[in-house]
Amino acid sequence: MDKKQLLDDLVKEMEAAAGKLPLTKKATDIVPPEGNPDAEVMFIGEAAGYHESVQRRPFVGAAGKLLTITLEEIGIQREDVFIANMLCCRPPNNRDPLPEELAAYGVYLDREIEIIEPKIIVTLGRFSMGKFLPGAKISQVHGQARWINWRGRKILIVPMYHPAAALRAGEVMRQFKTDFGKLKQIIDNLHNVPKKEVKSEVPVQLNLV
Ligand code: URA
Repeated sequence: MDKKQLLDDLVKEMEAAAGKLPLTKKATDIVPPEGNPDAEVMFIGEAAGYHESVQRRPFVGAAGKLLTITLEEIGIQREDVFIANMLCCRPPNNRDPLPEELAAYGVYLDREIEIIEPKIIVTLGRFSMGKFLPGAKISQVHGQARWINWRGRKILIVPMYHPAAALRAGEVMRQFKTDFGKLKQIIDNLHNVPKKEVKSEVPVQLNLV
């Protein structure tokens, strides 16, 4: 089965589980991930906000517009990447996700990652960073790529500030934009790195500062 079909089936499963999944009553409460099923780069945010829950698409509000524009600034179209969230729904008043909600939706997110097989995962904000780099501090590690072994697969994790945080503070915005510049270099480097090195068992840190 192709990746698109597998993703469509996964979304249908989530919709069928609405009512049992936290924060949902009906199928339309699910905000599915979207993007290119063959993407090399996957972005993972936190949870849907108001606009996302109305349009049932991730990152379409103000933070999403910033994400889309910043991607374009480094020559990447939104349609070419895959965009997911830790929670495929909207928490009340946009509050932080609870551990049991992260666990319930994490099962689906893990399957999304297995289907997409991204080379790079860009985490947006502290919740998705915490999934791959537990204990890391965003202010210390943002923009620094690290290889992790995720279920037997090497994935380069690039932790970034959440675009909503960038919209709230000028300094975070500056770092957010700088980190996207680094992401461009990281993607370009990945294409130039000999396969042997990419498969290294030793976690490497590509700090391109
Ligand atoms: N913030 C997120 O983390 N995800 C979205 O989809 C929108 C805003």
